[in-house]
Amino acid sequence: MSIPYNLIRVSIDSDALKHNWQMMHGKGGNAMAVVKADAYGHGLLHVARVLDDAGCRRMAVGTVQEAVYLRENGFTGQIVALLGALDDTDCEAVTRHDIIPFCGSEAQLEHLEKVRRTFTPDERLPLALKFDTGMRRLGFNKGQIHKLLQYLEKHPGLQVVMAASHLATADMPEQEDFVLQQGRDFAEICNALAPLAPFDSCLANSAAIMAYPALHLDLQRPGVALYGGNPFYGTAWEEKGHGLKQVMHVEAPVLQVRELAPGESISYGRTWVADKPTRVAIVATGYADAYSRGLSSGKDTQSAMLLHGKRVPIVGRVCMQMTAVNIENAPHTKAGDTVTLLGGRGKEAISPDELASWWGTISYEVMCLLGQNPRK
Ligand SMILES: *Cc1c(COP(=O)(O)O)cnc(C)c1O
Repeated sequence: MSIPYNLIRVSIDSDALKHNWQMMHGKGGNAMAVVKADAYGHGLLHVARVLDDAGCRRMAVGTVQEAVYLRENGFTGQIVALLGALDDTDCEAVTRHDIIPFCGSEAQLEHLEKVRRTFTPDERLPLALKFDTGMRRLGFNKGQIHKLLQYLEKHPGLQVVMAASHLATADMPEQEDFVLQQGRDFAEICNALAPLAPFDSCLANSAAIMAYPALHLDLQRPGVALYGGNPFYGTAWEEKGHGLKQVMHVEAPVLQVRELAPGESISYGRTWVADKPTRVAIVATGYADAYSRGLSSGKDTQSAMLLHGKRVPIVGRVCMQMTAVNIENAPHTKAGDTVTLLGGRGKEAISPDELASWWGTISYEVMCLLGQNPRK
């Protein structure tokens, strides 16, 4: 563990999280909250507790380790590990802690069965079959189903409780055809699995919950929308994501306020030069806090922070632990004042999608990265 160096602070709006959960669960009908990667940077345990409190009984994490952590902290609902059980330790953990691993290859199935026979020979091991219908990352394909069914028939200790696949383009209106094709392929797969005992079919991510009711099936897997990210931001379907509330707020203090004379530049490389007397605030945050150097001012800069409820544009380059903003819009700013980098209240609030657009990425990455900072 390195010594703490950040002055930046992350806070989580639990009511907003609950609101988004209710919205997704309400729309889809039966949602499983995706809380992988430390709940998209929002803090796994805190998020799990808030969601549990809101009535969420199913959660999906990435690794088996994350799932064990949830169990050990008292979460009694269904827990799914999206990355599956990778080795003996993982396989043993899923049998001991009642965790449902995604399983997308014969080798993984055989491994689970071997460990089950050793540790819990008299119990059935629940698992989720993962199918590839277009992502081409993990999962069985249609052609393997016949063999898969034969294997499962011979090994009744393995109990399929879920069949899942993942959509590649649900957030892209112009790629609707691909979504519908994946939907048809997955329906065909689920039909072919009919010889199995009843299981939950699960395909929709946040975007599909909002845009494709026909793909809601038995169970949905919302992630980014729970945290207030709109997967349709900047597209023709943007309004489908309206009503979500922002969950993550990020702040840092002002270190100093100073005035630049005309012709004076600020920060490394002298990329920004004052053309008139300009007051700037030096904010205690930079790329060491995962506030991207790509947010530096340049041609057509839009990147800004929020000071006393007003947008204040970034001037010059983002440094390791400092960034300068032009405080023309917030003239009463002084050292020690709080600056909002993400979130905030009112109509000037900075959404994760907007920050992501300045940053050249998506809200998911903004949340995961800024979320690694200390939480308030
Ligand atoms: C991350 C993830 C999700 C959630 O996707 P969002 O776009 O954040 O809603 C759903 N399913 C799988 C398999 C995932 O990895």
